[in-house]
Formats: sequence, structure tokens, C-alpha cells
Amino acid sequence: MPSASVPDTFEAGAFHPDHGTRRISGTLHIVPDGVRFEADGSLFQLPLEDLDVNLGGASDRLVFFAHPRFANVSIFTSDQAVLNHPAFANNRPLARARDRIRRRKLVSRCITLGILTLFFAAIAGVWLAKDPMVQAVASKVPAEWEKKLGDTAFAQITLTSKLVTDDAVQKQLAQLAAPLLAVVPQDRYTFKLHIIEDASLNAFALPGGNVALHTGLILKAESPEEVLGVLAHELSHVSEQHGMRGIVQGLGLYATVSLLFGDVSGLAAILVNNAPFLLSQKFSRDHEREADERGFRYLEAAKLNPRGMITFFEKMRREEEKLREKIPGGEALDALDFLSTHPATTERTERLEKLLAKSPRKDGFTVVDLNFKEFQSALRAKLSQPEKAKKVDAKEQNKK
Ligand SMILES: [Zn+2]
Repeated sequence: MPSASVPDTFEAGAFHPDHGTRRISGTLHIVPDGVRFEADGSLFQLPLEDLDVNLGGASDRLVFFAHPRFANVSIFTSDQAVLNHPAFANNRPLARARDRIRRRKLVSRCITLGILTLFFAAIAGVWLAKDPMVQAVASKVPAEWEKKLGDTAFAQITLTSKLVTDDAVQKQLAQLAAPLLAVVPQDRYTFKLHIIEDASLNAFALPGGNVALHTGLILKAESPEEVLGVLAHELSHVSEQHGMRGIVQGLGLYATVSLLFGDVSGLAAILVNNAPFLLSQKFSRDHEREADERGFRYLEAAKLNPRGMITFFEKMRREEEKLREKIPGGEALDALDFLSTHPATTERTERLEKLLAKSPRKDGFTVVDLNFKEFQSALRAKLSQPEKAKKVDAKEQNKK
């Protein structure tokens, strides 16, 4: 009895000695005592007893029927549903053959799956190893090259920016940063801190140790800890080689792997041409997160309260919201450079809050040894374009 889902008739082909090597097209019928092939002018049958069933053809898509008593006769169909015909269910040798075929299919499926799994695991492995590889290449780059690259880029910045070089101000900045610098590893770099006269809430770091704070950032900070929070973040970009890692990453995976196993002398030429790139470089989100966390650890090690880092990022978020309200399109957000490269998301401050809650230091932070208001006034006095004058100008212009 045929089951409802498996038909008795299948499209089929056959070979028979009467037709030489020619393939005959016809139909296969499952009848109570065997498999019957019918075509124009041909009709023959193979008994169920001792029937051979095998898979063949491309990708084993065809089911072949043969019988030891009828040599050179074979019937085949591409419809594998035939294997599930109930006529074969009670035929033991055939059931075994069917199981064998199913097992073989299963094995080949497992092999395919295994190969695919290995393939994707290899890709995932390379993907996961990408950042450690980039890091390893960056650490092979001689510190002097990195310093030269950063110095070249910084020299380009000073062509258009004004530095505050006043001794007294510099001395106060050094005093502010001293406890932080004492905990940042300096075996590879000597840090140079700069103040750039610019009203935007910005700071940046270049490979090799140049770190710059904009006057706007220092003057809008409400505590020395806020400035130190940003400074710790920027120092981390240097110590973690984010600039160099960005350049290596930009070279691609192939170059990274060959630099990893070869020598890095080929990078020298690339670095010379990369100074302008550095100036427009944005760190990846991963590097930003790393700088936040590493910076937090530096502050913690220096017994400086990381709360300032959090309140400063919150201040930036408020500034951003204010700007968004003013300019719905958000085009003028570029005016706040630090914001465009350092999105002050709640996720960011929340992560830092969690670190602070878990900090073993928690409340045992030291008081910063600097009169911050005095530092700000000293700095304000050195501005070539006083803030107030600027604001009045802006108002006058608005009136017009
Ligand atoms: Zn950053």
C-alpha cells in the first residue's frame, strides 16, 4: 500500500542490454513484487528480493536500482522520495541499503558542516586576532619613529594655532599634571603638554607624547579633576598607541600579518606620509572606550578622583544637547571638535560610574595641590583674544 505522501510512479531512466549503451527515458513503478520500468517499447522489472539500491551521479543525486540476476540492467531516478516508499519498508536487505544511503548522506552532510565550521572559525579567529596583531605590530615600531611622526604632525598644527607658552602658566599645568604623569609608564615616551588658544572644548594626543589641551576646555572646567580626567584619557591614547594602531589598521590585514612576521622598516616611508592623516584621524569607538578605562586606572593609581572625568563628559553631553536644540540639523556640532570625536553618551558615563562604584579607592582620593581658580585666571590673562571681548563681538554681530 502506498503512503499518502509517496507516489508509486517516478520519472526514471534505465540501461538495458537490448538498447546497448543508450539511456532510455520512462517511468518507474513500484509494484507489489518489484520495481518496474516502462518506456515506449520497453518494459522490464527487477524483483524486490535481493534488489540493490545505491546512490550515484553528480553529488549522489540519483537512486540506482540493480539486481544480481539481471546484469547490465539498471533503473535510476532523480526522485529520492522513492527511498521512502513503504514497499521497501518490509524488505530487509533494501531497508539496510536505504539506511546505508542515509548514513552516507548524513556523513557527507557532517563533513560539509565540519568544513564550513572550520572555515568560519578560521575567519572568526583572524577577526578576533586582528586587534592583538595590530597591537603587536605597533609595539614593534621604534619609539623614535613614532615621536618623529607626532612631532611633524604637531608642527603642522602650530602653523595655524597659537600656543600659550607663558612660563608661569606652563609651570602650573606641570604642577597639576605631575601626580598623573608619575603613574603613566614613560619608558617609551616622554610626554609634552601643550595649551592651545582655542575656545572649543577640545583636547588631543599625538603618537610619541605630544598632548594638547584647548584653553576653552581648561577655562570651562569646574574643577582640576575635570581637566585631569580629560588629560588621563588623552595620555591613554598615547600609551596605548591608538594613533599608530589606527595607521597599522588602515594598512589592512595582509600588510598587518606580513609586518607581524617580517620587519617593520617598510613602515618608515608610510609613516612619513601619514602626518596629515593623523590630524584628521578619529579614534575608533573601541579605542575611545579603552582610553576611558585606561585613563580611569591612571587616575585611580594617582589617587585622583575620577569623578571629574565623569562630570566633564556629562558637561559635554549637556553642551551637545544645547547645540542640538539650537541647530536641529546638528551641522554646527563640528564647532565642538572634542564632541565630534568623543560622543558623550550616557553609556560612556554609566560605564565610568560602574568602575568608580567598584573602585577599591572609592573615597580615598587626594586633594589636588593647585589653586585651580588662580591657574584659570593666569591662563585667561595670557589670552591674546580675551573671551569677554570675543563674546561682546559676537553679541554686536548678532545685533547687526
Ligand atoms: Zn579620545
